[in-house]
Amino acid sequence: MALGKAGSKVTSAVAPAGEEHLPHDLAKPLAIILFGSPGSGKGTQSKYLVDWLRIPQISTGDMLREHIRAGDDLGRAIQERMRAGKLVSDESVNQLVFERIQQPDAKRGFILDGYPRTPAQAEEMMRLLTNVGAGEVVIHLVVDYNIIISRMSGRRVCPKCGTLYNSVSRPPKVDGICDLDGTRLVIRDDDREEVVRERLAQYERQTQPLIEFFRAMSDRLIEVDASRERPETVFERIKSRLQVLIQGGLVQA
Ligand code: ADP
Repeated sequence: MALGKAGSKVTSAVAPAGEEHLPHDLAKPLAIILFGSPGSGKGTQSKYLVDWLRIPQISTGDMLREHIRAGDDLGRAIQERMRAGKLVSDESVNQLVFERIQQPDAKRGFILDGYPRTPAQAEEMMRLLTNVGAGEVVIHLVVDYNIIISRMSGRRVCPKCGTLYNSVSRPPKVDGICDLDGTRLVIRDDDREEVVRERLAQYERQTQPLIEFFRAMSDRLIEVDASRERPETVFERIKSRLQVLIQGGLVQA
């Protein structure tokens, strides 16, 4: 997904009004590990969580892309693998996360997005969290793949101005035509149904074993259905479950 587009979608996500923020005196830094497939609304939920909790989002994908842009040693080493859609080595991402979570802005906690992605990363992450004394909460945005596929394959984009439409949630006034400049809308390559299915299958292969890992070893796994309800409602669910964990002392224990 193009960064700019994902970014603008996230920026437009306004957290539900009247939020009180989490207490600043949590006994432990709060580590939120966020799992969500393509199309699950993970970007929007991340934004809500950042706004509410005032802790940074740490995206390994963004950090890796930053190194590629900078053209440094790491950037050059990972460029080919990333371009091919392959995972970067566990050592590289573990090291990045190790350094990032020790930055001053991560003192109260952080949201891990895109990490861990392999069992070896999950084990290393648990070690890192113990080192910085953080308590973890895993959030899994559960989706019905058929709903996601119809949602994503209903997406259309104007090739001229880049405006995004969706035949279900945001249809153009005239079917197949951009409201703004009258250009015929197209389907982006990575929104084609067979590509969406492949991305979901890949995510499933990678992530399912990790969810099992956290089910077995953590009593702080929050699973919410993210495919049927509006993003604000999904966030309310996450929020109340998190508050229960915090009030129950689990996160501070
Ligand atoms: P997407 O969710 O579309 O895969 P990301 O931005 O999370 O996008 O990741 C983009 C790429 O960055 C991945 O395909 C992979 O090459 C690399 N990457 C990101 N996070 C990790 C990770 N935890 N371990 C290994 N590679 C990673």
